[in-house]
Amino acid sequence: MSAEYIRGHSTADRRAVVHDGRSLQMSKALLILDLDETLVHSTERPLARHADFILGELRVHRRSFLGEFVDAALSWFDVAVWSSGSAAYVHAVVERIFPSSTGLRFVWSRERCTRRLDADSQEYYWAKNLDKGRRAGFPLSRVIAIDDSAEAFASHYGNHIGIQPYTGQEGDTDLQRVLPFLDWLRTVENVRAVDKRRWRSFDNTGGYVT
Ligand SMILES: [Mg+2]
Repeated sequence: MSAEYIRGHSTADRRAVVHDGRSLQMSKALLILDLDETLVHSTERPLARHADFILGELRVHRRSFLGEFVDAALSWFDVAVWSSGSAAYVHAVVERIFPSSTGLRFVWSRERCTRRLDADSQEYYWAKNLDKGRRAGFPLSRVIAIDDSAEAFASHYGNHIGIQPYTGQEGDTDLQRVLPFLDWLRTVENVRAVDKRRWRSFDNTGGYVT
């Protein structure tokens, strides 16, 4: 399946992908989820509304539609968490937002990130090098990462879905809105061939609203 074929924007083309028996027989894709500002917002500063749970000094706010998103993700994908937070923090948040019976493929924290210097801003940031995931046995053609930080996946932007940073705002719908796109993307043989920057324009019928 060529990249051009996948990028074709006609609904007929997309249905062909979804109903391609070969695609449907593929094993589940790996969905790697960031935590801070993607699934939750943690802050020492009280917000207008109550926190959903407290971890030490941190008030943790779950992003709207988090439960619905987690349920869908776990049924459609092999799911993993990769955060640049400390290991203790990451595991504490994961315990509270994923069902206890669930087996995540991995839970990685800052130790698995790479510190990089942004040449323009001269500020350091944490990069997530998907080659570590590939060594863990996942082909990059079937790896999707949702992260509010584009620079975290700058080396693997073809695997990255950008999401607006969640800082506790009311009325946020990104976790709900991204589901139809994920439902389609999970059937694609090589997810890296899909331009993900326009995911907000994806509609339920399998096409892009232009
Ligand atoms: Mg983040």
